[in-house]
Amino acid sequence: MQLLRTLAAMTGLGALAGTARAQTNLDSVMPIRGFCIAAPRARDLDEFIAFVSGELLPRHVNTLILMVNYDYQYKSHPELVDKGALSQEEVKKLVSVCRTNHLRIIPQIDLLGHQSWAGTTGNLLRQYPEFDETPQVKMPAKYEWPNPDGLYCKSYCPLHPKVHEVVFSLVDELCDAFEAEAFHAGMDEVFYIGEEKCPRCAGRDKAELFAGEVRAIHDHLALKGRSLWMWGDRLLDGRTTGLGMWEASYNSTGRAIDLIPKDVTLCDWHYERPEQTAVYFAVKGFKVVSCPWRIPANAVAQAQDMMKFRKTSTPEMRERFQGVMQTVWSDAGSFLAKDYKAGAGENNPWNTFKMMMDEIMKSDATQPR
Ligand SMILES: [Zn+2]
Repeated sequence: MQLLRTLAAMTGLGALAGTARAQTNLDSVMPIRGFCIAAPRARDLDEFIAFVSGELLPRHVNTLILMVNYDYQYKSHPELVDKGALSQEEVKKLVSVCRTNHLRIIPQIDLLGHQSWAGTTGNLLRQYPEFDETPQVKMPAKYEWPNPDGLYCKSYCPLHPKVHEVVFSLVDELCDAFEAEAFHAGMDEVFYIGEEKCPRCAGRDKAELFAGEVRAIHDHLALKGRSLWMWGDRLLDGRTTGLGMWEASYNSTGRAIDLIPKDVTLCDWHYERPEQTAVYFAVKGFKVVSCPWRIPANAVAQAQDMMKFRKTSTPEMRERFQGVMQTVWSDAGSFLAKDYKAGAGENNPWNTFKMMMDEIMKSDATQPR
């Protein structure tokens, strides 16, 4: 043993072993340490890679959720590609840095909801207006909330016979490009679902429609051994919980929680208060990740809660409390230009992320080695 120690000291293996042990311990305290941001445009790629290497990796982030949507040069559907989108070669540059450093990338496309934003229709419904769940709702010249149509974001019709052919080819191509084992389907804030004027969905149970779409995406991913991540808000009932209509559902999709596969990972976002709904998701059998946005104190509380849940739960429950994920709701270029450069003390995603990770590292340091 002494010889081994001497050898380790001589070769520097001791330090390496120590690092590995620290990492293992951190994985036990908080298995998922995530960062979620819109994919960089091609012009911001190098700066973003430098940010990943210089800031995320030293803070032990191990999961990068990239909201790509149409910012990738899809070969299967070039008509859907945004200007300035990443090429396959550019994606590989990012993938290579992440792979070398054991940082898992989970790409995201908003499926079902979020098919428009304010007064702008998203690429899918612009190119395929026949997929629109509410074609009778015209996009306003000047968007305001509330509005008579209850328009927040458009949805695609999950029962349109052609919609999956299109979106699943995007999902496959994106997962292939990012060499991803998991895909994030969004599916948050779905206000339009099972609409009375939709010839396919009218009269159907909204929870069943929502669950059917989750299952369709889940099963498609499973064909290639990939798993599904999504936001959890549609599975929470807004009226029962007192949560708002964005953070939870007011259109009866909450019951879908009992209708979807249990191996979906739920991203439980709460930005104004550190709600403890992670417990509900875990009791229902799901892996859950708590997600803050721009208020540092809330993120610290969410991290503390997650660590407490892991410490105080049964072994069956513990493994469902997977960790935390910082969310950034500006594109990578704006984030790097603004939030990242803002001073300490400002409520923004960068300061929130740093304080949350400090809290996790502080707790990790007090764990028995
Ligand atoms: Zn429909």
